[in-house]
Amino acid sequence: MSDSFDVIVIGAGPAGYHAAIRAAQLGLNTACIDKSLGKDGKPAYGGTCLNWGCIPSKALLDASHKYAEARDHFADVGIGVSGLSLDVPRMIAHKDQVVSKLTGGIAGLFKANGVTGLPGTGKLLANRQVEYRPHEGEGRMLQAAHVILAPGSVPVSIPPAPIDDELIVDSTGALEFQSVPERLGVIGAGVIGLELGSVWNRLGSQVVVLEALEDFLPMADQRIARDALKLFQGQGLDIRLGTRVMGAKKKGGAVEVSYQDKEGDHSLTVDKLIVAVGRRPYTEGLLAPDSGVNLDERGFLFVNDRCVTDAPGVYAVGDVVRGPMLAHKGMEEGIMVAERIAGQKPLVNYDTVPSVIYTHPEIAWVGKTEQALKAGGEAYNVGSFPFSVSGRALAANDTEGMVKVLADAKTDRVLGVHVLGPQASELIAEAVIAMEFDACAEDLGLIMFAHPTLSEAVHEAALGVAGHAIHMVNRKRK
Ligand code: FAD
Ligand code: AMP
Repeated sequence: MSDSFDVIVIGAGPAGYHAAIRAAQLGLNTACIDKSLGKDGKPAYGGTCLNWGCIPSKALLDASHKYAEARDHFADVGIGVSGLSLDVPRMIAHKDQVVSKLTGGIAGLFKANGVTGLPGTGKLLANRQVEYRPHEGEGRMLQAAHVILAPGSVPVSIPPAPIDDELIVDSTGALEFQSVPERLGVIGAGVIGLELGSVWNRLGSQVVVLEALEDFLPMADQRIARDALKLFQGQGLDIRLGTRVMGAKKKGGAVEVSYQDKEGDHSLTVDKLIVAVGRRPYTEGLLAPDSGVNLDERGFLFVNDRCVTDAPGVYAVGDVVRGPMLAHKGMEEGIMVAERIAGQKPLVNYDTVPSVIYTHPEIAWVGKTEQALKAGGEAYNVGSFPFSVSGRALAANDTEGMVKVLADAKTDRVLGVHVLGPQASELIAEAVIAMEFDACAEDLGLIMFAHPTLSEAVHEAALGVAGHAIHMVNRKRK
């Protein structure tokens, strides 16, 4: 094998493997180094997302949702279930099968596209030299015309609750429980804490979520966040805002968690504790001192809006650079960089990155929140539509939540769309398309939507901006 490449990518998570495949599609001689190993100890491309993130969490969210539906809601529509049972190891095994199918799929795509997959560790030296250390055997020096750094992120740990991978776990450990903990503590009511808390709550755990902030989901539209909080509390998630965890001590096979709130000091005993307090860029061992790549003040690799680092010919994409830590944001950055290396001129539109929280109902949004528009003094109109009057949501017995469309008061341009409801993760795609094409709320109102569908709620909310939604009484009619 040659030691010289047009492109070397370090990291085969969503950002890195998209970059590598696109570069190879464009005729560039590309290698991708990744050090992740699957549960079987074999190289597993796909990074956090496929191995310990997006995909395994969704496998457990979907499975636990099916179980909770059968237990709590099938009777509503005349379906009796007797002898409903839960086989947690089987559920985890299903999740593992999905993961290995997909990680194997990336290896297959590398092969099919001519990407040289190099399992092991990569380190960037000066002048785009890369030191490659395979999992076994001798390391060697590689040379590239262009290097793309995509090493991703790892969970943040906090001194009061050190991970022991048994009773106190991070998000990776929380995907591996072999039985349902009777009492489960979750530190952090962010996206990951809520998703993992929901899985185990649906399967029967009593879940307490401790969140230091007073506001629930401050990055989401606050109307949506308020409604979601009530719904999640109704599902049994005991979400305690304004509570800061101060310590976690193991005691007789359980964990005693001490925390503070406005009223003083408290403690709580749980069988397992999930620490979900965020993720940090992962750069350990990545850069030689003379690599020329710099970090920003928060430890992310410093890049411009085209993902170019301070070192000539070196780019960085995904969780390791500024912006939301989301797989699809990294994918688009990876593709942009590969295409720019090949001489094309694409850009990533960071204003239309969709966010999703895969609870039930799901929360999804794109663009600005109402509180951000208010804070920025921007004049806007709002249209909203509740799923409680959507024919399709009623037919599906899944009526919680709403769609909210925010549009510029002068130009009617869509500024933000927020969905709390069934399949919000799918519905948000049409809002992203609308915003990407600079649509007005009126444009969305003029488009024909199939009936009966959940997406009609987006249509109606858009019509509501001008006050003429059909299936609700409008306050302002024009
Ligand atoms: P990563 O996926 O972290 O991949 C980086 C890869 O590089 C890893 O394989 C790592 O081992 C390897 N690597 C690092 N350093 C080196 C080195 N020096 N040499 C060789 N290899 C190296 N995002 C979503 O958009 N949707 C979701 O639903 C979602 N759910 C999530 C659920 C959970 C529980 C978690 C933890 C995360 C979730 N995320 C989700 C976030 C998502 O996983 C990340 O945004 C995404 O994986 C980042 O992609 P990346 O390619 O930048 O890095
Ligand atoms: P995210 O970054 O979206 O994954 O969310 C992590 C959440 O954890 C944030 O909302 C933090 O406020 C919260 N958090 C961080 N440290 C603590 C702590 N010691 N106690 C309770 N919550 C915390």
